[in-house]
Amino acid sequence: MTAQNGWSRRNLLVAMAAGGLLAAGRSGRGLADAGPDGIADEELARKLGLDIPPERLAEARRFLARHPAIDVHSHPGRFFMSGVDLWDPSMQMFAAQDGAPQISVADMQAGGLGAACFAVVADMKSLVLTETGLHALRPLAPGESWDDCRRQMAEFRRVLASEPIRLALTARDVIDNHQRGQLSGILTAEGGDFLDGRLDRLPQVWSEGMRSITIVHYRVNEIGDIQTETPVHGGLSAFGADLVREMNALGFIIDLAHASYDVVKQAAAITTRPLLLSHSHLQHEPAAHTRLISVEQARLIAGTGGTIGAWPAGLTQRNLGDFVDETMRLIDAVGIDHVSVGSDMDANYRPVFDNYRQLPLVVAMLGMRGLDEDALAKVIGGNFLRVFAAAQVEAES
Ligand SMILES: [Zn+2]
Ligand SMILES: [Zn+2]
Repeated sequence: MTAQNGWSRRNLLVAMAAGGLLAAGRSGRGLADAGPDGIADEELARKLGLDIPPERLAEARRFLARHPAIDVHSHPGRFFMSGVDLWDPSMQMFAAQDGAPQISVADMQAGGLGAACFAVVADMKSLVLTETGLHALRPLAPGESWDDCRRQMAEFRRVLASEPIRLALTARDVIDNHQRGQLSGILTAEGGDFLDGRLDRLPQVWSEGMRSITIVHYRVNEIGDIQTETPVHGGLSAFGADLVREMNALGFIIDLAHASYDVVKQAAAITTRPLLLSHSHLQHEPAAHTRLISVEQARLIAGTGGTIGAWPAGLTQRNLGDFVDETMRLIDAVGIDHVSVGSDMDANYRPVFDNYRQLPLVVAMLGMRGLDEDALAKVIGGNFLRVFAAAQVEAES
């Protein structure tokens, strides 16, 4: 595949260094292959070189049975790739990735996950990898992102039809499904590019189950500026400001991952609902990166009553312990009510949390840092449920 479509090994190495979306090596596969379902948490911790007392792991299991753990940003099995026309030149970069996408529900269940946000990728047809990461170098024709999102949303529906995952349209759905021992899937979009500057597309995707939109991604779209390109809108565009109001009115969660500081500041001033920033962590020396956020940016999200998904990316992190460090750093900066977990599972850059079977380890390690049950429950799912519910309160009026 690589040779046929002209993507060299070097291109793939660049992809691995690009910073998100493309770089997932599906290293979780090796983990899943290492033993049968129900691989012991202790054995997994040992393999990862983590010193976690067995009683902490057992307590984490009991915790996950009591509280729905929610991944606030993910692309399970890279489902956005399913059904791609591999001969389409704009898809060849993605086609060069390893293997066929496959959602590992077994890993989700074995790890005690309650819900995952399944994000379609709206600008994927425009993205090209360069030495400096992902950039939107191919123009998108009007309707091109919309058509591609239709394909990806159809794939999500196929997942719901074929896997034991139930669509969650409300926070209540997530809680009810968890109590029945069922996994929830929440439909989201990474990039508002599919709107093509049209607010009238929002009610349609709402009616099809979409509940959150990361309004910008790697392409500078009609909505606002992004972290990884030079600003052109001065923050939100006029359309972007209207979009925030309309998403509030309809009940969508507004997700500002990838957005520039000015976009976050302006959206925070407009929104009447708590904001989400689904996957990032704090800038700090010596490992600065454009995809990370300042304490001020994090506090803008917290100031709306919102939450920030701690992101287990290899930009600054080498292992699960580093991820727990970054999560605690966020909690210290913005408070326990404003941090969640956004794994970017199966499309993250050098993920350090790369298989849902590691979830009990994350819970145990956060507990070892001093989070009690109430605090843990907020970070693992409660804060997102609060934002999810608040987005829809009287949303129809
Ligand atoms: Zn992202
Ligand atoms: Zn993503």
